[in-house]
Amino acid sequence: PYSGPSGDEILKKRSEFLSPSLFHFYKKPLNITDGKMQYLFDEEGRRYLDAFAGIATVCCGHCHPEVIDAIINQTKRLQHSTVVYLNHTIADFAEALASKMPGDLKVVFFTNSGTEANELAMMIARLYTGCNDIISLRNSYHGNAAGTMGATAQSNWKFNIIQAGVHHAQNPDPYRGIFGSDGEKYAKDVQEIIDYGTSGQVAGFISEAIQGVGGVVELAAGYLPAAYKSIKKAGGLCIADEVQSGFARIGSHFWGFESQDVMPDIVTMAKGIGNGIPLGAVITTPEIAEVLTRRSYFNTFGGNPVCTAGGLAVLKVIEKERLQENACVVGSYLKDRLKALQKKHEIIGDVRGRGLMLGVELVSDHQLKTPAKAEVSHVMDQMKEMGVLVGKGGFYGNVFRITPPLCFTKEDSDFFVDVMDLALSKL
Ligand code: PMP
Repeated sequence: PYSGPSGDEILKKRSEFLSPSLFHFYKKPLNITDGKMQYLFDEEGRRYLDAFAGIATVCCGHCHPEVIDAIINQTKRLQHSTVVYLNHTIADFAEALASKMPGDLKVVFFTNSGTEANELAMMIARLYTGCNDIISLRNSYHGNAAGTMGATAQSNWKFNIIQAGVHHAQNPDPYRGIFGSDGEKYAKDVQEIIDYGTSGQVAGFISEAIQGVGGVVELAAGYLPAAYKSIKKAGGLCIADEVQSGFARIGSHFWGFESQDVMPDIVTMAKGIGNGIPLGAVITTPEIAEVLTRRSYFNTFGGNPVCTAGGLAVLKVIEKERLQENACVVGSYLKDRLKALQKKHEIIGDVRGRGLMLGVELVSDHQLKTPAKAEVSHVMDQMKEMGVLVGKGGFYGNVFRITPPLCFTKEDSDFFVDVMDLALSKL
């Protein structure tokens, strides 16, 4: 049993000693003390079904024993030295990661976060092309350092600092976008930005395949092939941000970009790659990677033995436990059940996503698509009381984000939907 400080005591310390910009979910914030696979436990030992997984991060399950063993064993042996010496963990993990990539994408740079990975990817694109302009999508989230904050396109996450060199293209959002599900029509905006907003040559394009923070928006079919074509014609590199949609989460494919049948030049990842330990990576081709030999690129903790040993264990668990297949089977079952729920509850405007990356958008008016933000918060609170945790997001904060650990079962899905149903019925 837990014997540490209570939630109230932590809250008091947090308000005194931690960032004043920290926010929390729930009227009475949860004090989470333990995790086990798809469950989290609070200070009183109460169990919650976790359908958020630390923002699509915990892929194998909380404290998965095989991942924990790998981390502990490596920690006992060597926790840190530096990449100027040799160690097998980083090389083994790089090789294993490269084996999951298509084509010539096989050179791995390790970082500690998604922000760092995207910063590095954008720098590589700029160095390789000798151009500065990057195109990203409205409603995207790519990180919170100066460069990636520029690529991020939601005012909620942008501070007033210089964020230069990024253009934001129309978002191919099938629910709210003006062209519905016609991906090719939205992609014309990428060509127009190149034609009217740049010299005609660009450094690159960065996008998620399914926008996570933006409220689980799956890019309209046909968008990425058309956008990539324009970018490649303008000499740019295409960067796939797989921080949320990667690592088997979407079920149908291992990587999000594969669902649109495109071949990026650079792929970035974080979150799921480490099942909760700080780890990120950039993968590109040997030819593109060469640009970093012009100077030194160094990252103290990037690729450290503990995180790379953990990362390798994560990949092994995904394969051994067939988590991609599970995400596909359980995810489509859950989506079907959510679609059925939509028929019952007028307030559900849209159910979307793939595998175990699903979104449910609440609107108070179907025609106007008026965001029902307060209702989302209320339902979340009710669901928590019934033992289920879910995320929220989207520019208007009116979308439930359902991104559970990939070991989620059909029974968990039933429980989740029944609880959501009950909470919606009480609105
Ligand atoms: N890209 C995407 C798609 C993300 O969702 C996030 C984090 N929410 C990031 C990049 C940044 O990752 P990190 O918080 O690890 O810096």
